[in-house]
Amino acid sequence: MISLLSAGIMRIPMKNFFLITILFFSFSLAASGATEITLKDIHRPESAILFIVDGLGSSYFYPELTPYGVDGLEISKAITGNLTFGARLLDIRTPIPSTGPAHSVIVTGYSKANEEIVGYPDATFYDITRQHGFVNLAVMEKGDFQNMRDEQDIILFAQNNSIDEPLISIQANKAPSGVFELMHDWKVKLPEYLEKKKGIEKYSAYNKWGIDAANALAGYMKKNHPTQRFLLTVNVGAIDSGGHNLGEDDYYKLIDDLDRDIYPLYTTAEENNIALFFTADHGMSFAAKNARRGGHASGKYATKLESLRIPLVIMSSNTVTGIIEGKFNQSDIAPTLMSVLDLPSSLAYADGKSINVKNYASIFVQADREYSVSLWNNGQKVSETSGSELIFVGLPLDTNYTIKAVSADKTHEERLFLDSDKLVRFNSGKGLDYRAIIAIILILIVITGGLLIIKRIKD
Ligand SMILES: [Zn+2]
Repeated sequence: MISLLSAGIMRIPMKNFFLITILFFSFSLAASGATEITLKDIHRPESAILFIVDGLGSSYFYPELTPYGVDGLEISKAITGNLTFGARLLDIRTPIPSTGPAHSVIVTGYSKANEEIVGYPDATFYDITRQHGFVNLAVMEKGDFQNMRDEQDIILFAQNNSIDEPLISIQANKAPSGVFELMHDWKVKLPEYLEKKKGIEKYSAYNKWGIDAANALAGYMKKNHPTQRFLLTVNVGAIDSGGHNLGEDDYYKLIDDLDRDIYPLYTTAEENNIALFFTADHGMSFAAKNARRGGHASGKYATKLESLRIPLVIMSSNTVTGIIEGKFNQSDIAPTLMSVLDLPSSLAYADGKSINVKNYASIFVQADREYSVSLWNNGQKVSETSGSELIFVGLPLDTNYTIKAVSADKTHEERLFLDSDKLVRFNSGKGLDYRAIIAIILILIVITGGLLIIKRIKD
């Protein structure tokens, strides 16, 4: 390796045009992406909205469930019509009913995640969506800790948790044109929503503002950046605040109001082929009926089903509808979101599993070098193509396939049962790929060349 590198450096040509050629080749190597092979006509969402309702326990509105107080007696429940669309997971729980860690579980797919891990490379689905050309947009009233904000290209967020004196801010990294201005308009609009209101009315208005801002943002992207795929994360905070501050007899009314106010966003998603994921970070518990304060993260509240059970409802052009039974974990949300968007679930820390809601399966191939990859079903070759990063999309679920990868000196063969998406990795076991070696040599040549030019200018 060392001799190879020094041999490369020895032959440094100093002509600038040659440097430009080298730079061009380095960039084209780095920019090569995955090749997609579509095997069946599929309808797939272009973008996605992840809608997180802070502190909404599914016990309080799922038709199949009944909420109980810590005293064991039944407590109040909302009656909702809009919050139960699409594919609905009956039993999905957070491993930790606390805002920061639970949001971290949602975005990493790792059941032991915390706010620090969210900042690690390739830890969240935002890292993967960005690698595949999406922009990450967010409107968050809670759950917007530093590492969460840093994952977004632009975020409109509440700096404090006060509904009486809210402090709204924008953090922008690389926003599509016009989005900053739009968010600024919405920041200015909040006082209009809240003025002359109090109690539950004011709490719901605070949520409505977040929903309307997100809806305006999704509509703006579709109109002004129609080809730009996006992942829009939304958090509304007033149901959690209401549970803590207003008590049991107002908490369920706030859920009724959310059911009414979310409808325009639901319509925007449906009409524009945007997948909508509706969930919560954690639920809420009350000591008894008419309790003045609720809780979820500590003491007697933290172990209650009402704090742990969260909703998950998915609406997308490529997913099934109806109730999905079985036990699931909040860490399953991230791999499922990746699967619905047909992105490889290469989340660095995830221990969650993709939930089978898509109406077809996809196979992702990641190899350390170029292979000729063929797909076989019942002894018949279905597809063949060459590459190191491939996606076979639109395969029928619950079928058997054999995947073969052939290179000059190596053949891999793997049998797959497609009960869900599969990620297959082929490794020649020979250490560094020749392309990686060439890339390293080229980068070193460019750096050394640059240093020599600087030295010559200084001399
Ligand atoms: Zn929370």
